[in-house]
Amino acid sequence: MADIVASLKQVLGAGAVLDREAVAERVTSYWDQSPSRAKALVRPANTQEVSVVLALCHAHGQSVVTQGGKTTCVQGTQSCADDIILSTERMNAIEEIDPIAGTAIIQAGAILETVQQAVQDKGLFLPLDLGARGSCTLGGNLATNAGGVNVLRYGMARSMVLGLEAVLADGTIISSMNTMLKNNAGYDLKQLFIGTEGTLGVITRMVVRLMPLSTTKNTALVALANFTAVPRLLNHFRSQTGTTLSAFEVMWGDYVRAVTVPGAHRAPMDTGHEFYVLLECHGNDARRDSERFLEVIETAFENGLIVDAVLPKSESEHQALWAIRDDFDVILRPKPVYLYDISLPITKMQTYVAQVQEHLKANLPNAVLHVLGHIGDGNLHFFVQAHAQDENARALADRAIYEPLRMVGGSISAEHGIGFEKKAWLDQSRSAAEIALMKTLKKTLDPHNILNPGLVFDLGG
Ligand SMILES: Cc1cc2nc3c(=O)[nH]c(=O)nc-3n(C[C@H](O)[C@H](O)[C@H](O)COP(=O)(O)OP(=O)(O)OC[C@H]3O[C@@H](n4cnc5c(N)ncnc54)[C@H](O)[C@@H]3O)c2cc1C
Repeated sequence: MADIVASLKQVLGAGAVLDREAVAERVTSYWDQSPSRAKALVRPANTQEVSVVLALCHAHGQSVVTQGGKTTCVQGTQSCADDIILSTERMNAIEEIDPIAGTAIIQAGAILETVQQAVQDKGLFLPLDLGARGSCTLGGNLATNAGGVNVLRYGMARSMVLGLEAVLADGTIISSMNTMLKNNAGYDLKQLFIGTEGTLGVITRMVVRLMPLSTTKNTALVALANFTAVPRLLNHFRSQTGTTLSAFEVMWGDYVRAVTVPGAHRAPMDTGHEFYVLLECHGNDARRDSERFLEVIETAFENGLIVDAVLPKSESEHQALWAIRDDFDVILRPKPVYLYDISLPITKMQTYVAQVQEHLKANLPNAVLHVLGHIGDGNLHFFVQAHAQDENARALADRAIYEPLRMVGGSISAEHGIGFEKKAWLDQSRSAAEIALMKTLKKTLDPHNILNPGLVFDLGG
């Protein structure tokens, strides 16, 4: 058989294929700045070219790692020297925004923030939003079923998709570009590709559902004296603001103190409190919304739920508050730092976090723990800053986080997926029968195991 890289150059044109040396000039991912590794990187321009690439790789038994914005938090785009990387970077067009139907047709490589802006320019709103918005792609968002800051009100990425186009491992194009809200004609095939981390096909295009653009945005950073007040404040806001509550982001006091050190973010209030919540309501009543928001904050004070509050007076102050939540660069230094993403019932969070702290103290006494999360949907993130000299730190931190989670029936992945990073723990959150069915699907749709091999689970056995 002809050399696969030569064949790919022949069908795509040399400009669309980067050799090993050019691949090494790119970084591995957002989190890992080491040189990327692969036999070659292909940059198909459309679905047809993805189909040609995969048909060739299928025939050669050639492994393919799909890459969008490479912001994966679970090493989902990790490649090795023998892989071909398929980058969606040239498939980035916003093909159509239909304000009447409230839909948009987007190519997989489009950057989330670019799509958000284009949609907003037409007076509409794409509710998907996350800290990586400037780099992550819609294709990657669907492949991981991304969550983010608006899940509380709008659901995860899956809930925003009406139709989808994907290419199977053998090059077959599955075009399910449905634009209707209701369509129960047979299996909903798009679900095969949403949240399956590129293991069952390469997503090339999608139809997303848009919402009317809210005309009001009310935001506050509030401080709480203890964790008991957190779910009470959530219920208070839910009952008083109805469906307008869009974000309810909790930060433990240690996290806020760590990201407001000199040289990082400016502290907008006293940083000595136990808990902080960044909350935001989106509405459409310019006259009443901010008045109502203030009333709800005031009653939260009166009921002893919050002890301090800051409301932004300008867009730059609004962005500065969100930066405290979204920009945690200062925590990522010095290395090693491990990021965790788990979910569990909110009623069990306090006990669970205390157990994690105990386990870390006993097994990794030098480690520092920072906690935050999209708590309204049961999602917590942990940053564990280990000590460079700590032996076996990653494995010890994994155990400290995941083992107590078993007791409370939580999930080892709320929104980031499994990737390579969490696959050893998959059986804690999924039964043997569920994993067996996942493997059956994988073997059926990708019989040569070429798409992101080894991701989520290992085949065989
Ligand atoms: C600062 C920061 C904040 C973040 N915040 C959040 C958050 O709030 N919520 C959240 O859910 N995640 C978050 N993430 C994680 C990450 O941004 C998401 O997982 C995102 O959806 C990945 O998109 P991407 O384009 O970067 O995909 P990549 O990282 O390139 O890929 C992710 C996975 O999807 C596969 N894939 C990519 N494109 C395709 C495609 N077209 N077809 C098939 N498979 C594909 C890849 O093979 C890989 O397995 C954050 C990351 C960072 C760096």
